[in-house]
Amino acid sequence: SIKTRFAPSPTGLLHLGNLRTALFSALYARRQRGRFLLRIEDTDASRSRSEYEARLEADMRWLGLDWDEGPGMGGDAGPYRQSQRDAIYGGLFDRLLAEGAAYRCFCSQETLAASRKAQLATGRPPRYPGTCAGLDPAEATARAVAGESCSLRFRVTPGIRLPIGDLVMGEQVFASDDIGDFVIRRSDGSPAFFFSNAVDDALMGVTHVLRGADHISNSPRQVLLLRALALPEPHYAHLSLIVGADGAPLSKRHGAGSVEDLRVQGYLPLALLNHLARLGHSYPDEQLLDLAGLAEGFELTRLGRSPARHDTVQLDHWQRLAVALLDERALKTWAEDACTTVPESLRRDFLLAVRDNSLFPADVATWADNLFGNEPRPSPDACEAMNGAPRNLFEISAAMVDEHPDDFRAFSSAVGQAAGLRGKALFMPLRAALTGQTHGPEMARLYPLLGPARARERLLVAAK
Ligand code: GLU
Repeated sequence: SIKTRFAPSPTGLLHLGNLRTALFSALYARRQRGRFLLRIEDTDASRSRSEYEARLEADMRWLGLDWDEGPGMGGDAGPYRQSQRDAIYGGLFDRLLAEGAAYRCFCSQETLAASRKAQLATGRPPRYPGTCAGLDPAEATARAVAGESCSLRFRVTPGIRLPIGDLVMGEQVFASDDIGDFVIRRSDGSPAFFFSNAVDDALMGVTHVLRGADHISNSPRQVLLLRALALPEPHYAHLSLIVGADGAPLSKRHGAGSVEDLRVQGYLPLALLNHLARLGHSYPDEQLLDLAGLAEGFELTRLGRSPARHDTVQLDHWQRLAVALLDERALKTWAEDACTTVPESLRRDFLLAVRDNSLFPADVATWADNLFGNEPRPSPDACEAMNGAPRNLFEISAAMVDEHPDDFRAFSSAVGQAAGLRGKALFMPLRAALTGQTHGPEMARLYPLLGPARARERLLVAAK
């Protein structure tokens, strides 16, 4: 059976790009009735923080992207934090050293930088010149034991072609000469990304690696390592990059902050999931689907190769559908903080009245303020609508509120008869006077919420 994984580095908050990787990996595992694991790649001790790990796990749980193996879940291929796997890596480093597949490198950062610079100047891709490749192993060991700082390099056979399959991008062919001997253990003893990432996928039984296309050039190094260690190679599926509506790489500027920001703003899990599931993957239809539905329709063959465009308009479209699906309880929870000025007894009716006009709790709060706060300042459209009405309309209507305190239909038809108006010419000025807006929830729902005292007061203000 298949196994996928999400392998974030806890060096920052989860954003849309890595969340999509997590989502596709989870969907594929569900679709194939396989397993999905979470591995924390915290080998960079200076940048990794357990706080970020906690926050990204909270984000994933919020979205329903539960993992079958990983932190907090256990599993028989743990530990699932790379910082706890040093002993495992140590054994493999020793093996590679003993077999001559890796060697100690004593080159300083300055020497390496100078060599890179010289190669770049000639237009060649920089690679390690092989300075330490021929050192006598016994001598190198003695130097290391004596305390000389060194890294460990993997020996890459020169002059070979490396075709590597990719389930999305198609076969990619790399040349070992472009790669050169690369570092697998840094001089501080920590494993390099290429190493721990590839080795853990193999040791954890990961069969399918879904990850961003920015990692595509890492796969040849990783495959070479796995072959040297006689470990199984996963299938790779590199996901097209996400770009903003303007075609530039996704950033905050595109309204693509962290998942946490989006949650705080009031985006619902279903909206994010449906939006992301369609960035670089297509579904036969455009319905809002739950996680099970998204998983059922997920196929690697439906992944696209060209960059996927993130557009907030699209995301908001899914948000609208997701808000419409909230049941009363969920709606109440979602908008809780936005309703504090609404009298308890009116909250339910208020929320049902404004939900179709609210994408976010902030919109709910705006309506709460409109109805229960101070007299709203009319919008320019609303001023126009009021100015276009007959002078006595508002006086007439203010006088009729008490007869029809909670039935807008009865109220407006009485006003219409008395003023000789109907249709838009009647409703627009009334809406404008009562709410300061020309658009919004149904007046039949707003009018009783406003109550006769406020309604009369607002109509009298409009009459002046
Ligand atoms: N820790 C790596 C990252 O966050 C994982 C890359 C991969 O998925 O292989 O970019």
